[in-house]
Amino acid sequence: MAPKERVPSILTHPAVPLALGVAYGQRYVSRRLLLAGVGASILPDFDSLGLSLGIPYGDTLGHRGLSHSILFALLLAVSAAFLYRALRSSPSAAFAVVLISCASHGLLDALTSGGLGVAFLSPFSNERYFLPWRPITVSPLDVGHFFSDWGLRVLRSEGLCVWLPCALLGGLGFLIRREPKASQ
Ligand SMILES: [Zn+2]
Repeated sequence: MAPKERVPSILTHPAVPLALGVAYGQRYVSRRLLLAGVGASILPDFDSLGLSLGIPYGDTLGHRGLSHSILFALLLAVSAAFLYRALRSSPSAAFAVVLISCASHGLLDALTSGGLGVAFLSPFSNERYFLPWRPITVSPLDVGHFFSDWGLRVLRSEGLCVWLPCALLGGLGFLIRREPKASQ
């Protein structure tokens, strides 16, 4: 069953960079940096293409392997920091937004109810980890399965466990950021 699972769904990972964009605004998170953050949040799941190439799920290059590791997120964030001008940003903002966007992908996957765990320490260790609390319903890799009761359960759990907290945090950041202007 595990090779058919991918969690959360690819549409949900961008909730994190979008929340950062709402919270900090375009002064800190430019449109280009926001796009880079969205890309960084879904990039790890391109490893699922390896399944069709015969790479086993549990392999270092398998699903939730190296591309879901802390090192991968760090390298992507350092690359973004070097490209800060193209991202219309500062090195620190580019690093932080891309790091949080990419690293949150593995954390969200580790909150899910199925599949193998996440190889956070890859390539140094291929051990797979879950967090102790796993409230997010596993999402199907097969698009056909998404339009089913399973898909509805996934949407409900991702809405409650990912989109709602991200919307609240993003909204809170927005209000805090706007407050000084309101008092002038
Ligand atoms: Zn993933």
